[in-house]
Amino acid sequence: MRKHGGLIFYIVLLGIIIWSVWTASSSRNSLEKYTINDFYADVNDEKVDKIYISQDSHVPTGEIIVYLKDGNEESFYASDVSKIQDIALEKNVTVITDEVSDSSWFFTSVFPYLCMVAVIILMFTIFIRSQSGGGGTNQKLMNFGRSRAIRKNADEVGKTFKDVAGLQEEKEELKEVVDFLKNPAKYTALGARIPKGILMEGPPGTGKTLLAKAIAGEAKVPFFSISGSDFVEMFVGVGASRVRDLFADAKAYAPCIVFIDEIDAVARRRGAGMGGGHDEREQTLNQLLVEMDGFGENSGIIVMAATNRVDILDPAIMRPGRFDRKILIGRPDVKGRQEILKVHASNKPIAEDVDLEQVARSTAGFTGADLENLMNESAIHAASENRSFINMEDIKKSFIKVGIGVEKKSRVISDREKRITAYHEAGHAILFHLLPDVGPVYTVSIIPTGQGAAGYTMPLPEKDNMFITKGMMLQEIIVSLGGRIAEELIFDDVTTGASQDIKQATGYARAMITKYGFSKNLGMVNYDNDEEEVFIGRDLAHQRSFSENTQSSIDAEIRSIVDECYDRAKTILVENMEILHACAALLLEKERIGRDEFEGLFGDVKKQTVTEINLD
Ligand code: ADP
Ligand code: MG
Ligand code: ZN
Repeated sequence: MRKHGGLIFYIVLLGIIIWSVWTASSSRNSLEKYTINDFYADVNDEKVDKIYISQDSHVPTGEIIVYLKDGNEESFYASDVSKIQDIALEKNVTVITDEVSDSSWFFTSVFPYLCMVAVIILMFTIFIRSQSGGGGTNQKLMNFGRSRAIRKNADEVGKTFKDVAGLQEEKEELKEVVDFLKNPAKYTALGARIPKGILMEGPPGTGKTLLAKAIAGEAKVPFFSISGSDFVEMFVGVGASRVRDLFADAKAYAPCIVFIDEIDAVARRRGAGMGGGHDEREQTLNQLLVEMDGFGENSGIIVMAATNRVDILDPAIMRPGRFDRKILIGRPDVKGRQEILKVHASNKPIAEDVDLEQVARSTAGFTGADLENLMNESAIHAASENRSFINMEDIKKSFIKVGIGVEKKSRVISDREKRITAYHEAGHAILFHLLPDVGPVYTVSIIPTGQGAAGYTMPLPEKDNMFITKGMMLQEIIVSLGGRIAEELIFDDVTTGASQDIKQATGYARAMITKYGFSKNLGMVNYDNDEEEVFIGRDLAHQRSFSENTQSSIDAEIRSIVDECYDRAKTILVENMEILHACAALLLEKERIGRDEFEGLFGDVKKQTVTEINLD
């Protein structure tokens, strides 16, 4: 309907313009026929009967209509009407003056121009609307499809830190960025360097976009957003020119946030493409790097990018002055989930029987987006039963529905699985902590990672070691085995969850013997010919440069190292059984624990001093 109305308006305007141009040109034609000189001549020859002056008294100009004695009628424009009048009166010509009304003056001289301006504006808006596909009125398309970035002003972003639940540390870290955007001068005066680029890494739906928007909202600055895939086009050079445009726009609106979603689409490792390394994506990436290097330290543009695959990114984007700050955004823990649920329940009527804490407990592995979806489905379910509030039953029913989708991405885990994972990770973590040359533990988590792991224990290497010692390698093996041993000690059955650990332990043990010469029996001989083999012929041309006998001694040695480490790990864990229970319990309660909480479990238990293992 609206479109139709606009079209009719457009046609009518066009008609008016044609008419006004035509009338203007036709009156100009008659003007050319009769000039002021003709008039002087006619007056002198006494051919003029009377004249009719039509004038707007605001201006000296006017139209003169001349009635000749022979009955003809001529007209011309005079630059000074009063002169004409004087001459006519001198020669006794009748003069009729007529004040032209403002409106007719308006219609003849201003109106056509107004029409033209209106038409241009109309065409502009039609064009923009067709470009943005009828999207919301608050979306302004920059440069008509050149950069494709969507700019939202601060009040249109509509998100603040309040909308971002959990992610406390991340928000804390980003507060200075907000402050900088609010008042860049304060930082520039002190010569402080604010990061130009912030890279957010995390699984989809964990709130990366939300966080970027919230920063723009908090700082009240414009927010440019574009997806990495928008840069990647069929035609070479388009991506690069879009990047250029985007940054040109951003500079005009600084301070502002530029958010590049799915940056992996452009910033994939260079030279890995099929086209010999000179493809479109590479050009786009180069342009992005050039732009990021190009704008000054504190020019007020902060580029935020999101990805869920940091490992495939070109390392060049992480150099200083580019994306030099990295923020990891993981799946939320219980407390985080409860807070996210609260945010998404706040605008919905909830019955008293709804226990969000319990919902949070049973949704391990859910992302913020999954939880938002859960609450939304619950509202839909309640509405379908003609209820005006959401009860626990709605949430339970939706949980099954939403959970199936989530299961594909991570896994909805049972309580028993959770308990096993808690003990498994606690086993690793305790050994990391108690052994002298590994650890310390930075985080222990039993939140499913979405890449198949049920949990993880992350050490924080404190020292920058040039060499790895024999003792360290043994300790790594002990730590790797700790997960499985903890499972054995507590449960009457073991899981397949330790396969990666076992592989890692075996790998270390093999390297010790075949590469590093740590075995007395086999001496300092390299039995490892992996390096000489090109990966293509690996299985086809496997050549052993040593005898069957040696092979079996290698196998036996590997076995004995692993067995000894196993015993060692078991002894330590049995000795610290109470801590194992306490750690597992804490993990079950919080799902993710940090270094301080974890170390608090140990009281005055000392680190093990020696872990000498006899390798003979
Ligand atoms: P990502 O960009 O990481 O894929 P989004 O920021 O697009 O995720 O999140 C999708 C939706 O999930 C958000 O619009 C919001 O409704 C919800 N959400 C995700 N994380 C949070 C959070 N921490 N707090 C509140 N809502 C969240
Ligand atoms: Mg996103
Ligand atoms: Zn493990």
